[in-house]
Amino acid sequence: MNRAVFLDRDGTLIVEKNYLHRVEDVEIFPGAGAALKKLSGAGCKLFVVTNQSGIGRGLFTLADAENVNRHLQSEFARDGVRFEKIYIAPEAPDQPSCGRKPSPQFLFDARDEFDLNLTESFMVGDKLIDLECGWNAGVKKSILVRTGYGAKVARDAAEKIQRAMVVDDLAEMAEWIVNSLKG
Ligand SMILES: [Mg+2]
Repeated sequence: MNRAVFLDRDGTLIVEKNYLHRVEDVEIFPGAGAALKKLSGAGCKLFVVTNQSGIGRGLFTLADAENVNRHLQSEFARDGVRFEKIYIAPEAPDQPSCGRKPSPQFLFDARDEFDLNLTESFMVGDKLIDLECGWNAGVKKSILVRTGYGAKVARDAAEKIQRAMVVDDLAEMAEWIVNSLKG
């Protein structure tokens, strides 16, 4: 069985910008490629799980989001990083959805398609819903990065995130995961 790291997109892999949907607005965090390379080198399969409510709200289209994701894939490919799959939840918060985080559905789908052991896998994001998504799926650890909304979440929701690991950025996240695999 395979181990996976599930990654939120906005505020985690790239700079959070409200309803980002244009390739020219994508800013990948410095060191992100190297961090993810380290994880895949340690045998982790990589996935992106992203809520894109801007689609459900009519602010942009699924094609826009897929275009941004293709750009992301090609940029990370320069560093030798490959995402097995990118999951998009297009619904607005008030619309019925089975994949929108904190739902664990996409993690279950990935488990079934890629033969993953979720209890040996990790979820990484900058919002409480990312951490909850991981917990709902039964991952080994949900990890909060202090990028994007993460620093605010760490300050304001300290009670709720006690079970999470909190790190500054993707580099620290990758180092922590790789070390935990050795132990
Ligand atoms: Mg985010």
